[in-house]
Amino acid sequence: MQCKAVLTDGRGKVFVDIVEIDPPQADEVLVQMRAAGVCHTDHKYMFRDIPRILGHEGAGIVVDVGPGVTHVKPGDRVLLNWATNCGECFQCQRGNHSLCESRRHPPLHRTRYKGTGIERAFFLGAMCSHTVVAKQAVNKLEVDISFPAACIVGCAVMTGYGSVVNAAKVQPGSSVVVIGAGGVGLNIIQAARVAGAARVIAVDINGHKLELAQQFGATDVVLAARNDRGLLQAAEQIKAMTAGRGADYAFEATSVPALGAAPLAMVRNAGVAVQASGIEEEITINMRLFEWDKVYINPRYGMCRPSVDVPQILDLYVQGMLKLEELVTRTYPLDDASQAIDDMLAGVNAKGVLVIA
Ligand SMILES: [Zn+2]
Ligand SMILES: [Zn+2]
Repeated sequence: MQCKAVLTDGRGKVFVDIVEIDPPQADEVLVQMRAAGVCHTDHKYMFRDIPRILGHEGAGIVVDVGPGVTHVKPGDRVLLNWATNCGECFQCQRGNHSLCESRRHPPLHRTRYKGTGIERAFFLGAMCSHTVVAKQAVNKLEVDISFPAACIVGCAVMTGYGSVVNAAKVQPGSSVVVIGAGGVGLNIIQAARVAGAARVIAVDINGHKLELAQQFGATDVVLAARNDRGLLQAAEQIKAMTAGRGADYAFEATSVPALGAAPLAMVRNAGVAVQASGIEEEITINMRLFEWDKVYINPRYGMCRPSVDVPQILDLYVQGMLKLEELVTRTYPLDDASQAIDDMLAGVNAKGVLVIA
């Protein structure tokens, strides 16, 4: 079938055009997409030299299923996740589902652009009127939630929540620093409150984002100076706020490579630093920042276990403990994807979401 998709040429350009997709085969699901979130990875994919359908935060309605799919049926409302684990490999057997070594997904040639197979971001390609995905990528939505709010559970919410609950395992009564109050950072903040953190300190260079941070549960805020290299001055402020010691946990959620070590500067001895924004660049680190006995975690997808975490997140949403609708501060038609990405880079939205008619 023919579908309308947001594509990148991998050389900086984003455009909308028609792609062709084949019907679902065994263990696959055809989803009519209704909403797709905009994430920093979409921007990274614009410069990876590979043409691709963008989007990996998606929600929509099941249209058709292949043989072997029993957990959803046509008409079901679903959200997508990209931890399509096999359940059998070395890592899956150890419970590390987000590190699966044998991820399931429909092959490249079954989605085509101008007759040639095309990559889909995270094997989802959610910025498209329809997509065919592995059955593991689909979670049924059984709660009352809008498609825009549901779609962001698939990446920003999961990454933030999972970094707190699965990776750092934040303890009740603890102190938490969150660097960067964007899409992932706000979810770290609200998950830290759910985990019972007594103190949640948000750090950002943008005063508007710090106001948002407070709405999502930050107890304190630090407005960092733009010229504060590695946020070392902000780290001194954090120490002053935490008995001179540093926080129990610090999370980096800025996607700014130079801040990859900043959470280390903000945690106490034997504290936990987490890099949750997918920084992959080479940077220089003063090894003293690791002193002493600190743990640095770089969790993939918040160590996502879709069958456990997604229902838990939706349950917390129903209880009013996680704000999801409020995270979506603006929606855009599919044709305005480029504008939505620009707005994300400018820090205009908590989350911008494309709504697909
Ligand atoms: Zn993402
Ligand atoms: Zn596996």
